[in-house]
Amino acid sequence: MLTQDAPALHISRIQADKGAHHLFIASNTSRAREMNSVFAGLSTTVFEVMSRLAREHDAVNLGQGFPDDPGPEDVRAKAADAVLNGWNQYPPMMGVPELRHAVARHYREWQGLDLDAEAEVMITSGATEAIAGALFALIEPGDEVVLFQPLYDAYLPLVQRAGGVPRLVGLSPPGWRLTEDVLARAFSPRTRVVLFNNPHNPTGRVFDAEELELLARFCARSGAVLISDEVWEHVVFDGGRHRSVLSLPGMRERAVKIGSAGKIFGMTGWKVGFVCAGPELMRTLSKAHQFLTFTTPPALQHAVAYGLGKEPAWFDGMRAGLQRSRDRLGQGLAARGYEVLPSAGTYFLNIDIGPPATGLDDLSFCRWLVEERGVAAIPLSAFYAEDPVRNVVRFCFAKHDATLDQAMSRLSASNPAIVTN
Ligand code: GLN
Repeated sequence: MLTQDAPALHISRIQADKGAHHLFIASNTSRAREMNSVFAGLSTTVFEVMSRLAREHDAVNLGQGFPDDPGPEDVRAKAADAVLNGWNQYPPMMGVPELRHAVARHYREWQGLDLDAEAEVMITSGATEAIAGALFALIEPGDEVVLFQPLYDAYLPLVQRAGGVPRLVGLSPPGWRLTEDVLARAFSPRTRVVLFNNPHNPTGRVFDAEELELLARFCARSGAVLISDEVWEHVVFDGGRHRSVLSLPGMRERAVKIGSAGKIFGMTGWKVGFVCAGPELMRTLSKAHQFLTFTTPPALQHAVAYGLGKEPAWFDGMRAGLQRSRDRLGQGLAARGYEVLPSAGTYFLNIDIGPPATGLDDLSFCRWLVEERGVAAIPLSAFYAEDPVRNVVRFCFAKHDATLDQAMSRLSASNPAIVTN
């Protein structure tokens, strides 16, 4: 079980363990006790740190997950037009009706969901706001919240700030499977909320029907609400199709589905999120949203409403392009002797750098990679609060061919897990 100061350990414990690593700088200050302990002890997010290091070392940045491409021009043109000619004052708190209806229509067409746009869809300023709002709306201090490691770095501090008691369980590489045993260790009679992510960042896993139904059974049995971060729902490969938790048996009134226009259209700076949940949950979720951000820029909402109605071929083409990039990077890394783990979705693939006995763990590998080779990646241990996996490194492949090729040309043909320096 984690103690209250666990977020401080998020990265800095790993740093302390390894002594010499200076990759991550914790933000502990002597005045920390005047401030909230969850945030005062936190280090800067690994994505920000790695992007800064990438700039400093003029590296190819395959760390933080964002595409090279600026995003679909027609969607950006809609936003520009809406800024110049549209309404720029507060839009309705729940989102502009046009977008709420577009979200409901989009999920009907793509995921077979039957959502009432007026009662079951809300627009937020990004998925992270949606996740924070859902946690604030659902957790009473002391409630247990189930989380799966590796986990996206915002989850744990937000759970703790909401007063939740985290119950962390690990998924194991290379399969990262959600098993009965994993869930039995996580759930207790005090479980109130589960924070889940599918397709999964950073592993690139798309959980299958058996795993999803198992999770639904555990939630229904314990009466827990399932918050499902589905921001990568359109980024699935090899003919796979996303299944939302809202379609799982018993979950229609017990789950909160969260989506993100930034991920669907590859414009990560846009911060337009969607929350879908039954009317009863939504009434309380909307109260958290109204006092977090209240609204989301109306021009972006109109542009996203337009984008969600794009022809299916656009979405298929987007994922086919990303799949080609995944394969290009995967083949490049494999040709250089790295063990590439499967990626069924997201912008990410991982490599296994082998046991630490070789002298390199994920942190020192990433430091070596950015400083000596000019390529930035993300150490997977940054996605852990305890018992980190230390032999896996994440790369973002949502890049132009030229960017991926440049990164590959900077990697020597020999495996740095063996050639230590
Ligand atoms: N979601 C992005 C990633 O996993 C990072 C977002 C951020 O930098 N906060 O790389």
